[in-house]
Amino acid sequence: MAINLHCSNCKSSSKIRKRYCRNCGYDFSNGKKYRVVVKSHDGRRMSKVVESIAYARKLEGKLKTQAIEKNLFGINQIPLIDDVWLKYLSWAKENKKSWQDDLHRWDKHICPYIRGKRMDSISAYDVQSILKGMRSKRPYAPATIKHIIVLIKRVYNWAYEMDLYEGSNPASKIKELLSRVVYGKIRQRSDSLQLH
Ligand SMILES: [Zn+2]
Repeated sequence: MAINLHCSNCKSSSKIRKRYCRNCGYDFSNGKKYRVVVKSHDGRRMSKVVESIAYARKLEGKLKTQAIEKNLFGINQIPLIDDVWLKYLSWAKENKKSWQDDLHRWDKHICPYIRGKRMDSISAYDVQSILKGMRSKRPYAPATIKHIIVLIKRVYNWAYEMDLYEGSNPASKIKELLSRVVYGKIRQRSDSLQLH
């Protein structure tokens, strides 16, 4: 990470204390510009030319912070749902009596639709697909369907609490809709349960 003098004549960089451009001999006392260079976590270079040293320092600080944030929350760091599920499961074995029901639900209904995905790439549409898949097999009771949605939501919330994931929860919107369906504000037979 660095701030260098930027030559307005030949666009090359020189050390900040130099009086003349090392490439073309331009005299910096005729006007100075500064190039701020910061390396991001994945090795990419971010750079920008600015008019004043004060602004260059401010920008350098800002870019450094951004690089650190990208490192913490960057796309490469978003966990696979499978890894988080395994972590959740080992936690559930110690803390929840009903962990075997969760395991069964996950393996049978949820996993086939979302395995191998990163948590931020699973959408409400994927959750819909899981429910659609269930309904195509047999008319599950609304309570059973609700268990599936609640489980997905719980895994996401758990990941959030454990600082494993910071993004949105794909089951949230669907759960709201479902609770209206299940608890009778929209009265429908369970075998014609529509969540669209
Ligand atoms: Zn020059």
